[in-house]
Amino acid sequence: MAVSPSRLDAAATGIHIGIHWEYLLPIGTVHLLALLAVLPSCFSWSGLVIAAAGPVVFGTLGINLCYHRLLAHRSLAVPTWLEHILAVLALCCLEDTPARWVANHRLHHRHSDEPEDPHSPRDGLAWSHFGWLFRRAPQRRSFAFFEQYARDVLADDFYRGLELRPTSTLWIYLAQVAAFGLAGLAAGFLAGRPPSEACQLAASWIVWGVFVRTVLVWHITWSVNSLTHVFGYRTYETGEDSRNNWFVAVVAMGEGWHNNHHHDAASASVQHRWWEIDATYYVILLLERLGLATDVIRPRHVRRAADGGVKP
Ligand SMILES: [Zn+2]
Ligand SMILES: [Zn+2]
Repeated sequence: MAVSPSRLDAAATGIHIGIHWEYLLPIGTVHLLALLAVLPSCFSWSGLVIAAAGPVVFGTLGINLCYHRLLAHRSLAVPTWLEHILAVLALCCLEDTPARWVANHRLHHRHSDEPEDPHSPRDGLAWSHFGWLFRRAPQRRSFAFFEQYARDVLADDFYRGLELRPTSTLWIYLAQVAAFGLAGLAAGFLAGRPPSEACQLAASWIVWGVFVRTVLVWHITWSVNSLTHVFGYRTYETGEDSRNNWFVAVVAMGEGWHNNHHHDAASASVQHRWWEIDATYYVILLLERLGLATDVIRPRHVRRAADGGVKP
């Protein structure tokens, strides 16, 4: 089993391994804040509904559609204003800036399950799920790295500005906390509730709508990095360990058909069989129908058929 150089460094340096506190602190803090959900005073049925819908809105549109299929693989194009709105939804998930996310993901595709892979389960399931985020790896958080793997992303002034102002991601996250709180307050007052109950509703919307949802989206995304390189079936021999995992496909709105994705990473769709439902692709098709998505790259077998079986 190949062990990545980063893990070898960690083992060699023992307790002196660099902890990436900039990730460990916010991820740990939000997990703790999400635990407030067990308090009855922080619960509301509307908050629960918002938490359940959150991964669909923020995870599917922000992470799957924007960060992954649009920015990382350029499988479609949308107007800049819409792309930036989708990117802000992704930023509300506190999952790295666009350039960082894209660069690490492209590195994963280039060296899947090889020593250079930033999050291969060959180095341990927990490592691939979240451990790799907490390991200080300055070479993967440098502008030189972003220039190598995400130059096209950095060409956008908005995305480049996020790298030049490192705290901007946190401010965007805190702004949504305020927005959810104010929306909860407004909903409470509009419903004619007394101030104390309106404040309680606002608290529930923050805890469930932001903190619980953030934790859900994190673990869903991380499951694509971890579970789908360990558990599931393989349709294609792709030279690494990627698998199609129905559970991850359900919770991640299609992203769990990961072996299909590694086989044809350029495609905007990961649905290769009729029952391998790819909900994210259906959203892309809807955007295309509305005239908001163009240059949607079809699955390889469709491209082959369109080109008379000549081009891959
Ligand atoms: Zn993969
Ligand atoms: Zn990918």
